[in-house]
Amino acid sequence: MPIAALYVETDGLAGRLSAKLARNDVTGCLLWAGSRNAKGYGTISVATSKPGYTHRVAWELAHGPIPEGLCVLQRCDAPACCNVDHLFLGTKADNNADMRAKGRSRAGSNNSAKTHCKRGHPLSGDNLRLTSGKRHCRACVALWAREQRRATK
Ligand SMILES: [Zn+2]
Ligand SMILES: [Zn+2]
Repeated sequence: MPIAALYVETDGLAGRLSAKLARNDVTGCLLWAGSRNAKGYGTISVATSKPGYTHRVAWELAHGPIPEGLCVLQRCDAPACCNVDHLFLGTKADNNADMRAKGRSRAGSNNSAKTHCKRGHPLSGDNLRLTSGKRHCRACVALWAREQRRATK
């Protein structure tokens, strides 16, 4: 089935969207190969002044306008995915809960998904220390070292 058949044509948008989608045969994702924003979401120019997000455009082409206040979320966790089978509607709270859940499961053994340590220091820039592939918080290491010195006095 041609990808374009997934969408209802409006102003050439469906054609422009499907022209730059690449199917991932493993996940079934239809990944937008055009421009993306900093978070990895695909962007496409639409009739309104706002930049269109490709996953939102894909959902609207398939189902009609997104109800006010709802977000289009991706089950597959691929921000550029436009496969309507992977998209579902949720609230902002759902979105945040979903991201937190995914963040936890991804954090796994190497901490790579964590942005802050358990005390809330940023795990980035100068405060991030990498030791044999593990990420450590410099501020916490310094606190710990101070505690140790105090304890041995
Ligand atoms: Zn997907
Ligand atoms: Zn810390």
